[in-house]
Amino acid sequence: MPSVYIKTYGCQMNERDSEQVMQMLVAKGYRMVEREADADVILLNTCSVRDMAEQKAIGKMGMLRKLRKNRPHLVLGYLGCMAQARGNELLQTSPHADLVVGTQKFHRVAEYVDQLLLRRQEMRMDNERLPIVDVGEETGSQSTIRDHSADGHQATAFVSIMQGCNMHCAFCIVPRTRGSERGRSIEEIVEETQTLVHRGVREVTLLGQIVNLYGRHEFEKKDGKSPFVQLIERLHELEGLERIRFTSPHPIGFRNDLIECFAQLPKLMEHVHLPLQSGSDRILKLMRRGYTADSYLKLVEKLRATRAGIAITTDVIVGFPGETEEDYLATRELCQAASFDNAFIFRYSSRRDTLAAAMEEQISEDTKEARNQDLLRIINANCEAKLAACAGTRMEILCEGASKTNANRLSGRTRTNKIVVFEGSERQIGQIFEVLITRSSSSTLYGDPVVL
Ligand code: SF4
Repeated sequence: MPSVYIKTYGCQMNERDSEQVMQMLVAKGYRMVEREADADVILLNTCSVRDMAEQKAIGKMGMLRKLRKNRPHLVLGYLGCMAQARGNELLQTSPHADLVVGTQKFHRVAEYVDQLLLRRQEMRMDNERLPIVDVGEETGSQSTIRDHSADGHQATAFVSIMQGCNMHCAFCIVPRTRGSERGRSIEEIVEETQTLVHRGVREVTLLGQIVNLYGRHEFEKKDGKSPFVQLIERLHELEGLERIRFTSPHPIGFRNDLIECFAQLPKLMEHVHLPLQSGSDRILKLMRRGYTADSYLKLVEKLRATRAGIAITTDVIVGFPGETEEDYLATRELCQAASFDNAFIFRYSSRRDTLAAAMEEQISEDTKEARNQDLLRIINANCEAKLAACAGTRMEILCEGASKTNANRLSGRTRTNKIVVFEGSERQIGQIFEVLITRSSSSTLYGDPVVL
């Protein structure tokens, strides 16, 4: 059977979508390969969040074109967010691409690849190529991301619970690439998670663009609890499932019912990724984020008061249009006050057809870079100090497998989502146990399993 290679750009949602596409291709008899040199079909699952990610994928497609010289049958395609945002226009940028499939049509990729390969045979390599472009909307597409490649060796899995976003933050292209919010049913998600647990998965991360606002348009509140809280409670009851995480939430979705979960549900891990974006109220308003610096900080304090030791990480954008030195200093101050465990800092990247792209006072790249470096120093120092403070303590980890940096060692994650590398044996993979932390680096903890 023909072989396929998929390269994924961007976030965990994209990783999850690629996994689903692979499952569908394998179900049709295709063979997945690890190198593009071995593939008959190469698909790029793209990201649109920053211009750099789009340029990388377009550049990559340009390079792939050269492979056609020796392999004229090669099928090349774009999937995902950039495909959705640019559609047909991508064929002008990359006239050699055969396939452009948007975010609501992942379930049709295998069928389109079939068609393209068939056409290749029928054309007997003559020059006429007919690309396929499908970036339409599809009702129910949120329920098509449900198959996993978990094979009994995988201790953790991502579960996509919703698609899309209705928030329309001024800088964000996601509402355009992923459409409006659509949640899967609680029953469907519980069923999928149950299947994963039967295959040996012990930790799930629930995925959604604004995951904690899951189901707000489709499902009722019950006893004052949001659909997201109802879902977490249902998953918490599953025997064999030991850990629950979610990403990425929106600060406005943290009502008391969700905060209370951190007090009541021990399987909910002590880590929240809480995108801040800016510490200036003026910029938050321009961004249309719906909270203030003060309400954000109060939420951080509330979470810390509810679950001792909870880790909080964040996303920050520097250089949003109109961001003055004073605005930036407010962000800096808030980051120091919030004492984040870690943060992703992004230089603002203009995305077309967003409100921010049309704003005057775009900030120079030099200023963005200076603010980025300055904030990085603060975040890194804090992260390092937090990791160093773990030395000498015992921490529970779930062992996920070989360390990515040293295949002779194992690695796992603490409840607070910190990576721990240690020497151990293969039978510990998939197990939850304590590790005595002996030292730390700037991003990793090291330790020895506690033998009782
Ligand atoms: S909530 Fe997140 S995904 Fe939705 S528009 Fe804002 S930044 Fe984008």
